[in-house]
Amino acid sequence: MTDVLKFGGTSVGSAERILDVARLVRTRGGDPCLVVVSAMAGVTDFLVGLRNSSKDKERAATESKLDELEDRHRATLDGLVLSEGEARSCAVAIDEEMRRCRELSLGISLLEEISPRTSDALLAIGELICSRLVAAALRASGGESVWIDPREILATNASYGAALADEKETAVRVALRVAPHLAAGRTVVTGGFVGAAPDGSTTTLGRGGSDYSAALFGAALHDVGRAVGRIEIWTDVDGILTADPRIVPAARLVPEVSYPEAAELAFFGAKVLHPATIRPAVARGIPVAVRNSFRPECPGTVVRQDAPGNGVRAVAMRRGVTALFVGSPRMLLAHGYAAKVFSVFEKHGVPVDVIATSEVSISITVDEKASLEGVVRDLSEFAEVSLLPHLAVISVVGKGLRSTAGVAVRVFGAVGDVNVVLISQGASDTNVTFVVDGNDAPEALRRLHREFFE
Ligand code: ADP
Ligand code: ASP
Ligand code: MG
Repeated sequence: MTDVLKFGGTSVGSAERILDVARLVRTRGGDPCLVVVSAMAGVTDFLVGLRNSSKDKERAATESKLDELEDRHRATLDGLVLSEGEARSCAVAIDEEMRRCRELSLGISLLEEISPRTSDALLAIGELICSRLVAAALRASGGESVWIDPREILATNASYGAALADEKETAVRVALRVAPHLAAGRTVVTGGFVGAAPDGSTTTLGRGGSDYSAALFGAALHDVGRAVGRIEIWTDVDGILTADPRIVPAARLVPEVSYPEAAELAFFGAKVLHPATIRPAVARGIPVAVRNSFRPECPGTVVRQDAPGNGVRAVAMRRGVTALFVGSPRMLLAHGYAAKVFSVFEKHGVPVDVIATSEVSISITVDEKASLEGVVRDLSEFAEVSLLPHLAVISVVGKGLRSTAGVAVRVFGAVGDVNVVLISQGASDTNVTFVVDGNDAPEALRRLHREFFE
């Protein structure tokens, strides 16, 4: 039985934490695992800053960022106290990645432009370095382990920044490069988040994408005939909690959730799990567990096909949302109006989020980072359009919510005097979703939590 263990940034944020991870992997017993590693905590954000300062030609700031990044990884390497040979090969790897990082940064500066392809090559560096350090720490702790470049095994399309996996090709590569090591009793370590396009160039799966990598590798192992026990997402909280503990300190552990509930929670802002993680796992019936690397004794949350109990399981919020109100008197009884509205979003590649309709208007929320210029221009040809920015989506997630009497009354009763901009209920049996001003969202979330869990 192979387990896939994914360690997030906070779990590998320092030399001490990497040594803890090595200990955790080595002492768990059983068959060798596939270990998927994120960049060290904060490194991907740092690379985003570096990319932007390179483009803006802030040379001094960029140089100091490059030095800081190199220093952080070198200091971590020193803290691992490896054998001379092991330390040397890690130092060479850091050198190579940092040289590449400097070249990319310079290229961006010269062109004053960030292509999605160059951006991915730069953002991947955190995972490429950190996963090598984890592999070395594992070997130093006495475990037999090999590092594999994620670009050799995770095949994706060329949608840089949010690449989609080619699951068939990934399975072929995993069969060839990963399975034989596992069969020979070696732990395999690779980087999350990073893959390769058909032409071999580096791609990334989008922010938080290491969870998705872990699920894809679990799926690939399953597809090539290895029994996969579960996918474990190791992070800095005890598991999936009833709310984000950073906003609701009283949040408590949810021991079991179903796939649909976990998918809704992830989609509606519970950052603890990347939304796409669930899909490859569900398709193959592989359970996903979320666990705390700071407290390995805690059993965490298990996400499986079905979870016992009905009712509200957790609440989540996602900031950074804009609402569009698309209204037209001509819409009354107009056939095909909704299709016409949505085709505009489709044409401009803007994914729609929460939708609510009335007889005279359609309200739609989208991610505020989406470029809306074209959408608004095209909609304005046949409708009146207004925008409301700085909103947040709040979602109450659980099983059987559509059929449970009184949920909506409790939700909106609890929210009280917070102004609700838009409501969507009943589209799925697993959530009640509404939209509020971004500034009101944390308070609304706390009130909901009090109502359902405290
Ligand atoms: P990692 O670096 O391990 O990938 P993330 O920062 O991506 O970690 O995700 C873990 C964080 O998700 C937690 O620290 C917590 O603040 C946040 N979070 C949001 N919603 C929830 C929730 N419902 N349960 C647990 N954590 C949550
Ligand atoms: N390091 C990447 C990020 O910060 C991927 C991940 O951690 O899942 O988004
Ligand atoms: Mg994450």
